[in-house]
Amino acid sequence: MLSDYFSNAKKKSPLAPKTVEQMPHTLAGLSFKDWRDSRKKNHKMRNIRWAVLLFMNLLFVFSYWLDLAILEGSLSGSRLIGFYLMDPYNSLQLLAISSTTGYLAMLTMNFWIGLFTILIFWLIFGGRSYCSWMCPYHFLAEWAEKVHNYLVKKKKIKERSYHIGLRFVFLVGFLLLAVLTRNLVFENLNVVGIVSKAMIYGPSLLLLWVLAIILFEVFVSRRFWCRYVCPIGATWSLVGKASPLAIKFEHDKCGYCLECQKVCLVPHELWFVKRGAATQDVHYVGSDCTRCGLCVDVCPGNALTYAVRGASSLL
Ligand code: SF4
Ligand code: SF4
Repeated sequence: MLSDYFSNAKKKSPLAPKTVEQMPHTLAGLSFKDWRDSRKKNHKMRNIRWAVLLFMNLLFVFSYWLDLAILEGSLSGSRLIGFYLMDPYNSLQLLAISSTTGYLAMLTMNFWIGLFTILIFWLIFGGRSYCSWMCPYHFLAEWAEKVHNYLVKKKKIKERSYHIGLRFVFLVGFLLLAVLTRNLVFENLNVVGIVSKAMIYGPSLLLLWVLAIILFEVFVSRRFWCRYVCPIGATWSLVGKASPLAIKFEHDKCGYCLECQKVCLVPHELWFVKRGAATQDVHYVGSDCTRCGLCVDVCPGNALTYAVRGASSLL
């Protein structure tokens, strides 16, 4: 429905929270704890996603090694069966440099085709789907996150979080740096491109930078790069706002257990799962969502599903 795209659900009055008799664990005849823990070991969507992510990244590797013209290049810029695909933040920097140096007209037709093709593709899938379904750094960071969470649980370290808007400072800052230096400065620090190129063309010293970021995420701040720095993810969250595909939340199935927020990279997007927070019977998760499916996996009430907005659920 068109209203799903434009209404600000946060500003509406909240629905009345459910009574004990209406709670899903009561209806299922279980204690709250048994009901809450019933899907803790479910990793269906995560496993599908990891399989897709590994397959796509290995396709780059084997295309290069075996000289197959299937998926050439790297995640910074590639060709799928001869069809160009451009990373949008990379393109944004190129556009900024070209337009301030008078070379805009020099950008090739392949550049524009590559940019618009990838924009349409991820606009359909929405949010930051690219991050969790394609990005090899995201895969490494998920493992680092497990170690981080273990250390927090054992009280060896404290959780540190920052303002989620920080990544837009980086997004604008790296764009300005590109214009001032006429160089793609971010590409030298871009852990996504570094890991992708290292897989395809072999390791380089830049992997030490990736290691430093991972160690920071393990010992200081959970998923620091993806949450607060990465301008690629920030660009996707802007592009994916109008996507028809989203995670759908159904209030009547929710037991306010907050298991979904615990596993989510962007828990602020699940603001409506808290008791007394939902303002509608159905909410759709916002564009910061990576469509990773971790919340879908753990939700004991099946209150979260993949869906097309306004239509019934897909998974
Ligand atoms: S809302 Fe769910 S699908 Fe979206 S990022 Fe969070 S855990 Fe992943
Ligand atoms: S939507 Fe979140 S809070 Fe509600 S039942 Fe599912 S996991 Fe628990």
